[in-house]
Amino acid sequence: MSSLTYRLRKLKNQVRRAADDRGHRLGRFTTHPMNDEVAYAQCTICGRAVSVCTDPPTGIMMAGDVLRTKCRRSNFKMARKSL
Ligand SMILES: [Zn+2]
Repeated sequence: MSSLTYRLRKLKNQVRRAADDRGHRLGRFTTHPMNDEVAYAQCTICGRAVSVCTDPPTGIMMAGDVLRTKCRRSNFKMARKSL
């Protein structure tokens, strides 16, 4: 596995956790067809999107509404069993 693949996988895991904290449930990541340093995913509940990039010019590794907003299924946390 290349280091790029490894970094992208780490980023995806971070984003998945962040999305989960806000009640979102991300679908599969899709890698950009022209740039394999970029990948996208969408929440399967509300449809909001998030993107990750391993080497962005802005220095921001992840962006999207998923990271800024709670999922519309607001009772998600309540329904979850505590560990
Ligand atoms: Zn959502």
